[in-house]
Amino acid sequence: MSGIDTLPPLREVIAHHQLSARKALGQNFLLDLNLTARIARVAGDLGQTDVLEVGPGPGGLTRGLLAEGARRVLAIEKDPRCLPALADIAAAYPGRLQVIEGDALKIDPLHHLTAPYAICANLPYNVGTELLVRWLTPPSWPPDWRSLTLMFQREVAERIVAQPGSKVYGRLAILSQWRCEARIALTLPPGAFTPPPKVSSAVVHLTALPEPRFPAQAKLLERVVAAAFNQRRKMLRAALKGLAPDIEDRLQAAGIAPTERAEQVPLEAFCALARQFES
Ligand code: SAM
Repeated sequence: MSGIDTLPPLREVIAHHQLSARKALGQNFLLDLNLTARIARVAGDLGQTDVLEVGPGPGGLTRGLLAEGARRVLAIEKDPRCLPALADIAAAYPGRLQVIEGDALKIDPLHHLTAPYAICANLPYNVGTELLVRWLTPPSWPPDWRSLTLMFQREVAERIVAQPGSKVYGRLAILSQWRCEARIALTLPPGAFTPPPKVSSAVVHLTALPEPRFPAQAKLLERVVAAAFNQRRKMLRAALKGLAPDIEDRLQAAGIAPTERAEQVPLEAFCALARQFES
C-alpha cells in the first residue's frame, strides 16, 4: 500500500487529533475524499506543477491534490493543531508535501515554490476575498501563479463571474475577468462540510491570461472601478466627480454616457475610462 491507502479516514484523523472546528479560523472541513479529489481535478493536470494550498486543515484537499498527482504541494496552515495530521500525509507522500505553520497573508510562497504554480484552497472565509484580491493584483502580469481553484461562499463566487446588469457585478468581477478566465466549476450545499456553514459554497476556477483582455494600467483601472462602485446607485458623472473636474468629458471620450450607472458598464469601457487618466 502507498500514499492515500495508508492514511486513516478523515473522521478518525479529526477525532484522534481532537480537531474541533474553530469559527475564528473559518474552519469548515471537507471530509469526503471523493469530493476533494473532484476539486483537485478542477485544477487540471498538476503533474508538472507545484501547488500552493492555503489552510489545509486536517488535509482532505491536500490528500486529493496529492492523489491526483500534484508534483509538489506547499501547504500553509495557521492552526498548529493540524500539523501532526499533515505530517502523516507528508510521510505517506515522501518529498511531495511541505507544510508551513503560519499566516498565508504574511508568507511569500515564491521562497518555496517554482513559478508558475497552481493555487488550490478551501479558503477560510474571513481571509478569502483579501487573498483573492492580492493574487489578482500582483506587481506585474502574468503573475507567479497560472490558475486559482478556490472555494468561496456561493455569493462571493457569483460576484467573481458576474456580468454587467447583474446586481452582484462590481469590483471583484472586473478585477477577476480583466486578466483571467473565470468560471464556477462546482457548487456545494452546506452539508458537504463539517461543521456545515450557514450558506452554500462554490468552487471557482480562474486561469491567468497571458495579457489583459483590454489595455489599461492596473492602478488606474482599480481606482476608477473602486470609485464607480463605491456609489453604485449614482450616475457615473456624480459617482466619479471626485476623480477629475472634467469627468463628463472623460466618460464620453471612453464611450460611456455620464448618466450610466456602474452596474451597466462593461469591462472594456472601464478599461477605456482608465486610459483617459493616463498622463
Ligand atoms: N482545507 C481544509 C478542508 O478543506 O477541509 C480546511 C478548510 S477550512 C475552510 C480553512 C482552513 O484555513 C482552516 O484549517 C484554518 O485553520 C486555516 N486558516 C485560517 N486562516 C488562515 C490564514 N490566515 N493562513 C493560513 N491558514 C489559515
